[in-house]
Amino acid sequence: MTQIVNSQQLIKENHLKLVFSLIHEVDGISRADIKKLTKLSATTISALVEELMAKGLVVESGIKSAERSGRKAISLSVNSSGGYFAVVSVSGYHFRLRLFDLFFEEIFSKKVRYDNSKLLSETLTEFLAENVSVKGYGELLGIAVGLPAIIDDNHNIVSSTVLSVYENDNVYDSLCKSFKGSEVVISNSSAFVAYAEMEFGDTDSESLISVDISDGVGASAIVGGAPFLGNAGMACEFGHVSVDMNGKKCRCGSRGCLETIVSIPAILEKATEICKTEIDIDSLAEAVAKNDELTKYIDYVCEVLAFGLNNLINMFDPGAVIICGDILALGERFISKLRTKLKNISLPGRDVSVMASTLGDNAEYKGGAKYIFDCLFR
Ligand SMILES: [Zn+2]
Repeated sequence: MTQIVNSQQLIKENHLKLVFSLIHEVDGISRADIKKLTKLSATTISALVEELMAKGLVVESGIKSAERSGRKAISLSVNSSGGYFAVVSVSGYHFRLRLFDLFFEEIFSKKVRYDNSKLLSETLTEFLAENVSVKGYGELLGIAVGLPAIIDDNHNIVSSTVLSVYENDNVYDSLCKSFKGSEVVISNSSAFVAYAEMEFGDTDSESLISVDISDGVGASAIVGGAPFLGNAGMACEFGHVSVDMNGKKCRCGSRGCLETIVSIPAILEKATEICKTEIDIDSLAEAVAKNDELTKYIDYVCEVLAFGLNNLINMFDPGAVIICGDILALGERFISKLRTKLKNISLPGRDVSVMASTLGDNAEYKGGAKYIFDCLFR
């Protein structure tokens, strides 16, 4: 009996999600339109819409005439301020929080330095408890936490080269306890970035890889619309793909990892050596334009990256590779060279779009918000 009740409950929840996502996608849709699209009964749809309205998620937004019969129908819309999502990006020293409404418009943002000598679960829970309340936006529907870490299936932080205290500390459990009723997701930050690229970026592909080249080199794959995390959440450790077994020793213990050549600190170190003056990320592009030896070196970096990417592409067969992070300071010329070099070494018939991300630093946050939204309503 309990099983039957549970499965009925599940069916109802799925129907509720379906109706809500239709109203979200098609503003002004009527109950009759939903009936046509879903084949659910009119009574079921009325009850579901009623429930969504009672939760403040949906409103009746006007009256429209049906195309053929001319009969009037009530339009339904999502109440953009009927609920909101919190997305927090954790780095070694900072919490960066952004709140989003039901259409992923930012409604609040805050950045604080946190005490990283304390348990992350405590400082993060405390920070969120103080900052996630916002008037006039209904309930906090979900919290997405992006971490520079490997996270396993049980939501445990397995390893991180950036966070200080994370052993025996379950951030996920702590947040679930403190924010009952809100969906909680914790994930490697780069998975949210890749999700954002699929949902809000310039590619139509549902199989893509986003590659972040900044202090380190990270990648995240979306395969068939879902993040590909691997057996223990350790897939796509792209920075530690070796491109030279006799190369420089990497912090991971291996040799010749991509990160030892194409990460921004590695590039800046070499650029400073070549130019005999301190080069930082802001002066890099100008220094490359002025110095032939440095131009040649950046060409070599581009080539190494192309070889690394080619390995990744041969494994995953993505429709698009999106480059993001500080490397974009080198401009479109670098991306265009990367495309050419990659084409020269690709398998015949392979056609992958390589593009620079246009989402900027909002990608991780919007991706987190959309991911939570999809967990709740898809
Ligand atoms: Zn390595």
